[in-house]
Amino acid sequence: MKEILLCKYGEIVLKGANRRFFEDTLLKTLRFRAKHFGKFEITRSQSTIIIDPLEEDADLDGMFETASRVFGIVAISRCAVCEKDMEQILETAKSYLPQFLEGKKTFKVEGKRSDKRFPLNSPQISAEVGGAILGVMPRLRVDVHNPEVTVRVEIREFKAFIHAGQFKGAGGMPVGTNGKAMLLLSGGIDSPVAGYMIAKRGVQLEAVHFESFPYTSERAREKVVELARLVSQYAGSFNLHVVSLTHIQEELVKNCEEDYFTLILRRYMMAIADRLAHKYECGGLITGESLGQVASQTMQALGVTDPVATLPVFRPCIGLDKEEIIQIARRINTFETSIQPYEDCCTVFTPKHPRTRPELSKVLEQQNRLDFEALVEEAIAGAYTERIRTEF
Ligand code: ATP
Ligand code: MG
Repeated sequence: MKEILLCKYGEIVLKGANRRFFEDTLLKTLRFRAKHFGKFEITRSQSTIIIDPLEEDADLDGMFETASRVFGIVAISRCAVCEKDMEQILETAKSYLPQFLEGKKTFKVEGKRSDKRFPLNSPQISAEVGGAILGVMPRLRVDVHNPEVTVRVEIREFKAFIHAGQFKGAGGMPVGTNGKAMLLLSGGIDSPVAGYMIAKRGVQLEAVHFESFPYTSERAREKVVELARLVSQYAGSFNLHVVSLTHIQEELVKNCEEDYFTLILRRYMMAIADRLAHKYECGGLITGESLGQVASQTMQALGVTDPVATLPVFRPCIGLDKEEIIQIARRINTFETSIQPYEDCCTVFTPKHPRTRPELSKVLEQQNRLDFEALVEEAIAGAYTERIRTEF
């Protein structure tokens, strides 16, 4: 039996030329991913994308998995295809649908006849298919108001489609339809989640990671690369720029008061990320900050680091509790990697009593003990870039 995938995309926000761009980007992403799983034909028809395997050994399960991580798709279902002949439709329904109805109590059938030449009308199709299902699964009951499973039988232009049970898609908008932003990616729990959340709104990522070798290790960097790969399952390929803060931190320790280390370091991070963002044509920055989570994330501390950025800073975790962030991290599979215990450049040279209510003038007074511009330029000049390729 021939099986295909049907992907539904939301259409509320889509108008005119926008819609075309949205659909083209979505198709491009799906076609790119499909190559990994075999030969597929991917086409669109009435707010649905049809993914049709063209050869026996195309991996439909793999394609289903990867499509469920593509932003812009709100629901996916597996679907049997047969000739537009009632005999065949009933046979297919009886052999294909039990796997989706097993263990369920109620169902209904929604027939839909797009091809008006088909001899049965929609209610007749529903009644016949419903009867056939009850024939093979007599314990099921029909409930037209509140069914556990809705079976759909669509008589289309060339074939009949039979499917049941939609799975939730990743939602959001196709990556690439809403500009590009620079993610400050640490090895922690929050920043991969932040990257995922902004990518979900259609934003292409670019990422920067700060390290402090030899105070941070090779393994700490590998962990971040692994996190970036996990994020790419949703966000697609992106560049990861690795920037060393070692010299800056050593200068800080030599010249500034300990209480201000973290704040000034965060100003350097923002400045470097902002410069890189301009260089790589990003329209914003993304961080995993959550209000009040640590000393450097109080409103006053954010007020001291934020002005360094010339671009808007997106902080999608700002109003989430740690528990809520962890829930998302588990769902997108970054959590287990994030909790591996490796040091971060923020955790070396941390002050015992960080300022939670810093004053900008005091911070600047400390910062001005160093040549801020020169250190920023030096750090950027030493950056190296790794291409993170889409994990399927
Ligand atoms: P996370 O779980 O994301 O590490 P956190 O609670 O540990 O967050 P901080 O260490 O204060 O928070 O960092 C706040 C934000 O600053 C991070 O979410 C991230 O966006 C950015 N950041 C922190 N450390 C780094 C780093 N080494 N490289 C890049 N960005 C960083
Ligand atoms: Mg961190």
